[in-house]
Amino acid sequence: MTVRIGLLLGLVCLAASVPAQAEWMERTEAIMGTRCYVQLWADDPDKGNAALDAVMDELRRIDNLMSHYKPESQLSQINAHANQEPVQVDKELFDLIKLSTHYSEITEGAFDITYASVGYLYNYPLHIRPNEAQIQAALPAVNWRNLIFDEQNHTIRFGHPGMRIDLGGIGKGYAADRGAEILKARGISNAIVTAGGDTRILGDRRGRPWLVAIRHPDNPAKVVTRIPLEDCGVSTSGDYERFFDEDGVRYHHIIDPHTGHSASKVRSATIIAPTATQTDGMSKTAFVLGADKTLEIINRMPEYDAVFVKPDGQVLYSNGLRPPAARPAGAPPAPTAANSHPP
Ligand code: ADP
Ligand code: MG
Repeated sequence: MTVRIGLLLGLVCLAASVPAQAEWMERTEAIMGTRCYVQLWADDPDKGNAALDAVMDELRRIDNLMSHYKPESQLSQINAHANQEPVQVDKELFDLIKLSTHYSEITEGAFDITYASVGYLYNYPLHIRPNEAQIQAALPAVNWRNLIFDEQNHTIRFGHPGMRIDLGGIGKGYAADRGAEILKARGISNAIVTAGGDTRILGDRRGRPWLVAIRHPDNPAKVVTRIPLEDCGVSTSGDYERFFDEDGVRYHHIIDPHTGHSASKVRSATIIAPTATQTDGMSKTAFVLGADKTLEIINRMPEYDAVFVKPDGQVLYSNGLRPPAARPAGAPPAPTAANSHPP
């Protein structure tokens, strides 16, 4: 008996002294109306699981704060009341809405969260779209300059009747960044956090870069290019994500704030920059302004890189992603701060 207990204790001690297995761990959940995916390298599976839980909790928290689908969210409170009075919100939401206007400024209004004043008239799964008269009636309410901010009290007020906002164009990038911050605070240094088209990459894939594939707009199984990346944000927007086709026209979820119509100057746009909030804020621009004009903007911002797939299938790269010989004279040297390499 004593021998057996001794043996048992010995085995227990042995089990306790074996180091837990370090491994890649992953989890997928549907949050924010999209697929959210986290992959991380954990020294210990318990710590890894706790970290995955914490990221998913954070994504749910952000969704509860910012979703325009949830009537109780603070964002919905703005949409319900900011036409009549200033609406006070958490500093976090206030700051993200304020930051959204920065992207409006640098994209000449191509990115504009007040696009929702006309955008709400579309329902892609139900194939519903506004007619021209409805678009023209709603369009005057689309203008980010009519958002009135009170920095002291963190209130937001609409300066024009009929205004609405929607953070669908920046909230997922922000959520991916927040998820990555949570992982960093838990000592995890190799991970990706993806929410829909927005990804934040932490570190590398333990000795190799992460390989991010850009899919063909018409064929999800076909890859246009793969980009090796480390420690950065990357977002892809595509006209194939939420759409319906009618009479040869594609009605999809990226709206030109100036016309109220789906913006179709590119089929897909991938942006690379230090954070996913930055890349999300910029990934709609080329649909509205076109690839060439947007490349001018991107090439002026040393932190950013981009890959655009044009309607004719041509693929355009920003200067930082092009081999030196292909770069115009005077262009800044590659790679950029996003650690990107020529594909
Ligand atoms: P994902 O939802 O995968 O992050 P995108 O980053 O491409 O996809 O964002 C698309 C969303 O951006 C739309 O569903 C809508 O909520 C919002 N949006 C559409 N047009 C604009 C625009 N011109 N400016 C700001 N946000 C927009
Ligand atoms: Mg996005």
